This record gives sequence, C-alpha cells and structure tokens, in this order.
Amino acid sequence: MLDRQPVTGDAATLAGILAEGREPNLGDADLGGGEAGVTVLGAGEAMDLDEGAGGAGLGAPPNPPQPDVSTQASGEAMEPEAQDSVQARVVAYLEGRDKLTHAEYGRARRLAEDGGDPILRMLVRLGLVSERDLAQALSEVLGLPLADPTDFPEAPVAEGRLTLRFLKDNHVLPLREDDGALEAALADPTETFTLEALAMAADKPVRARIGLASEIDSALERLYEQPADKPAQAEGDLGDFDEEDIEHLKDLASEAPVIRMVNQIVQRAVDARASDIHIEPFADELKVRYRVDGILKEVDSPPVRSTAAIISRVKIMAKLNIAERRLPQDGRIPLRVQGKELDLRVSTVPTMFGESVVMRLLDKESVRFDLDSLGFDGSPRERLLSVLDLPYGILLVTGPTGSGKSTTLYTALARLNTQERKIITVEDPVEYQLPGINQIQVKAQIGMTFAGALRAIVRQDPDIIMVGEMRDLETARIAVQSALTGHVVLSTLHTNDAASGVTRLLDMGVEDYLLTSTVNGILAQRLVRRLCTHCRQPYRPLPELAAKLARVAGPASSKGTITLHRAVGCDRCGGTGYLGRMVITEVLLMSDGIRQAVLRHATASELQHIAIQEGMITMYDDGLRKAMEGRTTVEDVMRVAAADDGHLEDAGAIPDEAGEA
Ligand SMILES: [Zn+2]
Repeated sequence: MLDRQPVTGDAATLAGILAEGREPNLGDADLGGGEAGVTVLGAGEAMDLDEGAGGAGLGAPPNPPQPDVSTQASGEAMEPEAQDSVQARVVAYLEGRDKLTHAEYGRARRLAEDGGDPILRMLVRLGLVSERDLAQALSEVLGLPLADPTDFPEAPVAEGRLTLRFLKDNHVLPLREDDGALEAALADPTETFTLEALAMAADKPVRARIGLASEIDSALERLYEQPADKPAQAEGDLGDFDEEDIEHLKDLASEAPVIRMVNQIVQRAVDARASDIHIEPFADELKVRYRVDGILKEVDSPPVRSTAAIISRVKIMAKLNIAERRLPQDGRIPLRVQGKELDLRVSTVPTMFGESVVMRLLDKESVRFDLDSLGFDGSPRERLLSVLDLPYGILLVTGPTGSGKSTTLYTALARLNTQERKIITVEDPVEYQLPGINQIQVKAQIGMTFAGALRAIVRQDPDIIMVGEMRDLETARIAVQSALTGHVVLSTLHTNDAASGVTRLLDMGVEDYLLTSTVNGILAQRLVRRLCTHCRQPYRPLPELAAKLARVAGPASSKGTITLHRAVGCDRCGGTGYLGRMVITEVLLMSDGIRQAVLRHATASELQHIAIQEGMITMYDDGLRKAMEGRTTVEDVMRVAAADDGHLEDAGAIPDEAGEA
C-alpha cells in the first residue's frame, strides 16, 4: 500500500513539492536528486499569512508541475508563500465545493492573524468547516492519502523519540516505521515545523498522510496514555523540541499552582529549620526531603506530573538556563520568607528521571558567628583562642563535608575583624558576606583558582588571609609563604581529625620544617544535634559505658552519679528530640613535642597520642562531656565521631552531608 503512494519523502520533499506548487496527483513523482528549490525557514520565523491568502494568490490556478523537485536534507522547509499558496488552494477547494464562503474565510483569517490557531485549524475551530471536509481538501490539494482509524497502529510507534506532548499539540500520529521512512498521520501537514520536527526526531524521511485531528487525538490517548499515565517519560524526552519546549516549560512554571507549590516547599523548609531542600525526580514520584539538624527527612511530595513545572520554576527563580537539562548548573535565589532574608543556593544535576535539585538555605540573619553559641567551650575553646591570638601563622580547620568548618572559619574571622586589620578571603563559594572583609569568589573556569587568587591577594597587603580550602600543593605553598612573611592564614583541610591534618600536608608535599614553623594549630570538628530540653529524658548509663564516661568526666565524678539523656520528641522539636546543632571539637597545638614528632615524620596516631598527653581533649571526649551535660546524646556523638582508642585511620561512619554548614 505504501508503495503506491504518489508522494513519499521527508519534510523537505513535501515542502519542496508544496513550494513548487506541483500537483502531485499526476503520478509517479521523480524524487531522486535535483536542485533544492527550497529555502530554509527558521522554525521560529513568523509567516505572513496575509500575503498569499488574502491577495491575488487566492483562487489563482496552481503552478504547472515541475519535474525537478528537491529531495535535499530534511532540515529544509517550504517558503512562506508556498505555504500560503497551499492554504489558498485548500480554501479555494472548499469554496469551490460550497463548504466555505469567502466572508467566513475572511473572518477566520482575521482571527488567525490576531494570534489564534493557524488558519486551517481556525476554520475547524470556528465550526466553519468540518474536520472531515478539511482533511478531504488537504488530501486533494496535497495529493496525500487520508489515514483512516482502521490504518492506525495497535501499539505506539517511534515511542521514546517523540513526546506525547509534541504529538498531541500538533495532532500527529506515527503510523508505522521502517528503515526508509516514518509514516505519520497529520491533521495539518502545511505546518512545516511539525514535519521538520518529526523528520529530525525520527532521523529519517516522513511519509505524511492526512488524518482528522479528533481521530488522531483519541488514538494518541488510547495508545500512549493507557494503561498507566507516563508523565515522567513524556516530560523526560523533551530535549528534541527545544524552542517550543522552553516556552511550554515557562508557561508551566508560571502557573499559579506551581508557584504556590514551590513557595510552599520553601516556606515549610524554613518552618522546619531545614538547612537543605532536596527535590528528586523518580519514575513514579517526585521526592521532597528536608535536611534538619543534619538528618534528611521526607516530606509531602507534589504530584509527579508537576515534576517538570516545579523544577523549571526553581530554575527560573535561580536564573538558571531552563533549556539546559543535561548539564549541572548552580545559582542562587535571594528570598524573603516571613520577613526573613534568605539566600537559597541552588544546584541542579541531571538524573535518570529529570534534574535533581538541591537548595541550601542560608539564613543571613539568624547565623551567629559566635564561638559560644556554636558550642565551643572549655579547653578546646581556650586552645582555639590562644591560636587566634598569635600574630602570624596558620590555623587549619578540618572535618568532612558538612561538619561546619566554614562557620567556624567565619567566626574566627569575625573575631579578628577590626579596623586595624585588612582581611581578604578566597572562597568557593562565598557563603556569607561579612562586613568589612574583602571576599573573592574562586572562578576556576576563568583561571581564578585558589592558588591564582591567593597569589594576587598577597600583593594586596592583607593582614589576614582566609583560603576556603587547601586543595593542592600550590595553594598550600602560597599559604605557607604568606605565613612566613607575617600573615595570619586560615584554611580548611578535608581530614577526619586534627593529627591527620599534619600528615595530609606532608603528603601533599609541604616541607616538614616549613610546616612546623608556620602551622600554629589544627582544629577538627563535627556537628552533633542538640537535645531538645523540653522533652529530653534522663537515664543512668550501663556500667561499662559509665566507666568510660568516668574517664572523661575526671576525678570530679564518682561512679553512679553519671546521668545521660535520651531523645524523646515533642511538638517543639518536631518529634525528633533534637533542636539545632553544635560542634564537638579538638584543637592540636604546635608544641615543641609535636614539632619534633613532625620533623621525624611520626604517624598521625603518634601525633594524636602526644597531643592527648599534652592535654588535648579529643572531639570524641568533647562530645561525651557534652552528652554528660545533657546537651546531646552519646548516640549522636558516636554517629559522627570515632571513639579514641588511639587514632583511627577512618573516623568513618560519617554520613556524607551536603555541603558545609
Ligand atoms: Zn522536644
């Protein structure tokens, strides 16, 4: 059957035929070779419908057949006049058979010009022409066969390459496909964009047939929407029809219910004191989770069909490119929620089922860069302050991602920030803006690396330099150099404990004698959750644990008097038993003993051992002390820190948390 069709070929072929005004019914078309008689029309370019349709073109006899019809590449389309001329001939056909009056046509044309549907679709929409009459006219004028519902397939054709939305919007039903071509029923093949898009998505020529829009639509519903709705798939494949898509996504994202849903997600996160919002698309659900006090918690999810709209909405708010759905992006959203100024840092990453979005909430107002409120107290606090008092040298803060290193650094900077000192930071990213401090954002893409920025700022005559992270030897070398020349340098390292900070620097290639003469102290930290004081419940630990705790508590405590608290949960803490977080920390000082050990390249455990002998309280013990004071639980301390039976290579079991706090 297909072989007998008078017209085959791709979009350009058809467009070429249309452009030449040829009567394809005349028989076997010579579709091989030939010159392209077709100019390219950008898909978005406006077509002037008035010219041909309203003017002399109407009723004019079709041009004589041209034997040399283009079969060039499928990206080409018919010229506007050609399209108009086809439309004019369809109209003439209808008028000639008393299916349409000239006055009715004029009315439809004015409405079409006012930005309504394309003219032919408008005729049907206004009830001036029946779908069947239009299909008949198109079939006659274009010489394309009609597609009857009995020709429709039993299963979706070309599924996955064509989105349901595209098919529905353009009333297209793929009928069958072989190596040579994709056959499809179209309600309006004069819409060149539809044909081009089809040919591009199928990556082969399209054999067009004329179908009734209503019959195509119901077939699409039957074939593609049953038994289960597949919104994820339909939305997931959008990439092929970008321009139209983006508009569509913008439309979706600006719908009031979508805006409301996104606002609600953020609002509830603020109410829950969340530090991060995770929006994760899966095959059959859109998961929303909040991280509260370091722990992820799933919350009510919006319907999965709103996935694309919600993610687009977030991307628009963060000024991200909504057309880009294949590469990770990041941006920020300044926001006011309940009169509170928030800064949302947004990052997107493409996953199997769409983009996964994480929004980090930075509450500019309620952050307090204050050692006491962060949980620094007792001996670790004294040791930290003693390092900050030194006129030059390096202080390193170590810990895994999400252990609050940046906040500690900011707090140290805030303490050091006085009129007499010039402070410059190099960060990636700049999390909080501190008044009076020059903060530089690393931009690796343009060569502004930590090391590059650092080289530049040492010439800016600073007193204090903060480097977000000592990632490489070059950065470490410049930091050491700066410290040697009388600067205070603050930075972070990604190690589990303080002693490992020393060995990490040596491993990176920093010379031991430079290290011992520049590093003043290394602080390691974790965050534990604060017990909710409204619902915590006291209990006596078992003897074995009590004995361990007695060692930390020191001689002041006698056996049997140790009390711990467990998390219970009440309204005030959202049922978790915890409210907020605080640090547990250890500070290793560069004493003579440590210096000598470093020079003979002692292991991290040896260094740790020496430091403990010299009075360092480990962060584990700092945690146990806080647990005995009823401020956190032993369980939470053990969750984030390793027991210090000597040094552990892997202080492990640290849940990987999203970013710094
Ligand atoms: Zn509570």
